[in-house]
Amino acid sequence: MQRQNLPPCPHCGGVEVYRHGKSKQRRIRYKCGYCKKTFCNRTGTIRINSHISDKQWKDSIRLFSLRGGISGADLSDFLGLERKAGQRINRKLRRQMARLPEPKLNGIVETDETTMTHKWVWGAVSRGTGEVVLKKVHKRNEDTLLPLITRYTEKDTHVFSDEWMGYLNLWNHRFHMTVNHSKSFVSEFSNQIHTNRQEGVWGLIKPFAIHTYRGIPKKKLNEYLKEFMFRYNLKDYNHRVKALISYCSSNFHTDWY
Ligand SMILES: [Zn+2]
Repeated sequence: MQRQNLPPCPHCGGVEVYRHGKSKQRRIRYKCGYCKKTFCNRTGTIRINSHISDKQWKDSIRLFSLRGGISGADLSDFLGLERKAGQRINRKLRRQMARLPEPKLNGIVETDETTMTHKWVWGAVSRGTGEVVLKKVHKRNEDTLLPLITRYTEKDTHVFSDEWMGYLNLWNHRFHMTVNHSKSFVSEFSNQIHTNRQEGVWGLIKPFAIHTYRGIPKKKLNEYLKEFMFRYNLKDYNHRVKALISYCSSNFHTDWY
């Protein structure tokens, strides 16, 4: 056993870590001198217990990061694996979306609600940064909407919405302007007051749910909203790939991409 300059043990954080032969899958194995547990470079990541090679994981991450996403079935076809394997990879990657930092919107923010899979979805998008927040909500009443807006926008934000009564008391918290959607989609007072950007977000996410994923399960709606936010908020493809790689790596495998 040879002492090396290695990162701490993923089990206990101990710093006395040694090389310890190879694992069953022929991966380099390490052993912790403190807790005596062994591990490899996949321990503590979503790639543990996966028979899929590093190359296939890299390809999956690249395809998942594409602007339009990829269905599990298409991913399986691309990798030459059975159908369920692609779905499993997609699901594992989608769960990493929970680790994304939640944006705090500022400047001019448009807000609106819609229904997806028979559930209400609230959305807000910043015209400045172009970041979006999407949340599944049970009702679209004031008690639901106001806390969401105050949580996800800065104090000096200008919020534009339609005249839905859930926003009636928003002026207490934020600078608030409305557009009467029964009359026109742009306010008669200023052509800047509209929610067309948020409408555009709905126009992107709905075909994505229907065509790429051929319908999404009701219970998984929140996960899919997060996945959409990942692609919309991280504008650059390489940025998305890099983020996913870091979520899927351990300290022992930071340079696998
Ligand atoms: Zn340990």
